[in-house]
Amino acid sequence: MKCPNCASENPEETKRCGNCSYDFQRKTATFGQGGEVVVTDIKMPFWSMVVFMVKWAIASIPALIILYLIGILLMATLGGMNMMIGTRMH
Ligand SMILES: [Zn+2]
Repeated sequence: MKCPNCASENPEETKRCGNCSYDFQRKTATFGQGGEVVVTDIKMPFWSMVVFMVKWAIASIPALIILYLIGILLMATLGGMNMMIGTRMH
């Protein structure tokens, strides 16, 4: 691992630079601040946002229907099992 601060080579497992004691874990935090890219994405034209949202909504409708059907099937199966257990108990 190359130190981003002083460019000296360090073992991959070290958390701090042996030369300047730079915190390598700070590097991931800096990558996290790369969320600025997301901010610039939000700044894209409003209409493209709307188109994206509409496309997403249309795409999610079949998925929602499938999830709904799976939910009904699960409920029916569980309900049927409960009824079977119930009849066995009595
Ligand atoms: Zn260093």
